[in-house]
Amino acid sequence: MIVKTDQDAIKSYLEDSSNLKGGWAEEAVFPQSPEEISEILIRASRAGRPVTVSGGGTGAVGARVPRGGIVLSLERMNQDIDISRDVSQGIWLARCQAGVLVEDLKKKAESEGLFYACHPTEKTAALGGTVATNASGARSLRYGPTRRFVRALKVVLSAGDILYIKRGSRFISKKDSTVVLKSGRKILIPIPSYKMPAVKNSAGYYAKDGMDLIDLFVGQEGTLCVIAEVSLELEKRPEEIFSCFAFFSSEEKSWSFSQDALALDPLSMEYFDHNAIVMLMSKGLNIPRYAKAAIFFEKDTKSGKTDEAIEEWRALFKEYGAREEDAWAEIGEGESGKFIELRHSIPDMVNARIRRAGCEKISIDSALPRDRFPEMMNFYVESLGKALLEHVIFGHIGECHVHVNILPQDEEVAAAKALALQFVRKAVLLGGTVSAEHGIGKIKHAYLEELYGREGVLEMARIKKALDPAWILGPDNIFPAKLAEEL
Ligand SMILES: Cc1cc2nc3c(=O)[nH]c(=O)nc-3n(C[C@H](O)[C@H](O)[C@H](O)COP(=O)(O)OP(=O)(O)OC[C@H]3O[C@@H](n4cnc5c(N)ncnc54)[C@H](O)[C@@H]3O)c2cc1C
Repeated sequence: MIVKTDQDAIKSYLEDSSNLKGGWAEEAVFPQSPEEISEILIRASRAGRPVTVSGGGTGAVGARVPRGGIVLSLERMNQDIDISRDVSQGIWLARCQAGVLVEDLKKKAESEGLFYACHPTEKTAALGGTVATNASGARSLRYGPTRRFVRALKVVLSAGDILYIKRGSRFISKKDSTVVLKSGRKILIPIPSYKMPAVKNSAGYYAKDGMDLIDLFVGQEGTLCVIAEVSLELEKRPEEIFSCFAFFSSEEKSWSFSQDALALDPLSMEYFDHNAIVMLMSKGLNIPRYAKAAIFFEKDTKSGKTDEAIEEWRALFKEYGAREEDAWAEIGEGESGKFIELRHSIPDMVNARIRRAGCEKISIDSALPRDRFPEMMNFYVESLGKALLEHVIFGHIGECHVHVNILPQDEEVAAAKALALQFVRKAVLLGGTVSAEHGIGKIKHAYLEELYGREGVLEMARIKKALDPAWILGPDNIFPAKLAEEL
């Protein structure tokens, strides 16, 4: 097994897209099988050495930034993609090593007339990372987040046990939450009492009385196990897709359009505020001058039915004053088209800007109940306007989930953080979540406590203690490592 200790050779594993500083590790290890992962974890548990799991390193909350010890990278478990039909369930499955990149699964699935419908905008994420964060993407509007696609996992616990979990095969409840391992060892998982918000959610551990055990390992941010292998459901490719960028003369009009357009059952519905448009303009694109907001959507149709579908959208364009002649449209498998690249370029430019400024990402990733979403959008815009803080708002508006990125100057960082906390409090008050897809990582502990309170966070820590008694996996992810002392 490859082990790297040279600090120059491991420095790229000490960061992610959050720009969180202070990452360090004594070594990075590159296992090639679940058995090798098991050996590493057994040794680390005995020595009490922290292990931070590394996927593609595209995470947005500092979760893969190590705080000492060992970086366990899955990048050498990136070859196997086995696509097959599961006749008993009537679905297509891709069984993959956890280090396989999203883009490689996409290519392989497409070559077989299938597609992986749920993935983050960033295609260099590894599948294990997307499961560990319960990532979602533009098409989650139609298909749901990663959790909905995970059919089976092979995971390695910190004591070295290798566990294969198939969805539907093991449920845990307050009455019976004992998991018996192959070795005969029993683990009692303390089912928490906090209630998850009824919106798209990736904040802390999934918890419900009677839940499927597999769901505990989706969205756990490398704190409960190392995911070695994932089985993901694939979909049949839509026959035709048309995608469109439409421009609006006011942000409010685009918000209303996005919600009414849901009746036309789009695949995706993404938002760009005025500041995001200005960013796109810097790429020399021909965007109408009146544009204060844009919506990007994709609609799938049966072969030969695209013209009919476009008519329905035309009518809606008229209602909201989106000029058809200014809209950009594309017919084909939009996924590989320029629009997806444009959508991706916004977070890319935001992250580059944060890196240049040398500050940590200050972003809100809340999803809201649909009826409270307009109130939240108004609150974002009014508060940021009053505070005179530079910002960009974009994202999954169809799911009432936008990313608010605050881009402060040095002297404004404290004010920006205080405002971000106000946003989080308001989202919780309105029944929303503090993280719909990025997770909590190391930079949003305070947000998680806003959602579930101190006791809720302690309940999560107790789950970790049960599964990772040596407390070596992903320390400081989701909640502070020092919580271990309070249990
Ligand atoms: C430009 C850009 C756009 C993005 N857009 C989106 C988006 O639309 N939606 C979205 O959800 N996210 C988005 N992200 C964030 C990011 O891509 C996702 O969070 C992604 O799921 C992270 O995967 P990764 O492999 O890069 O994970 P990493 O950053 O390597 O790790 C993330 C977390 O997962 C853990 N982990 C990784 N692999 C494993 C494993 N095998 N076993 C156990 N734990 C593991 C790590 O320890 C860490 O806690 C975007 C990021 C960028 C840079």
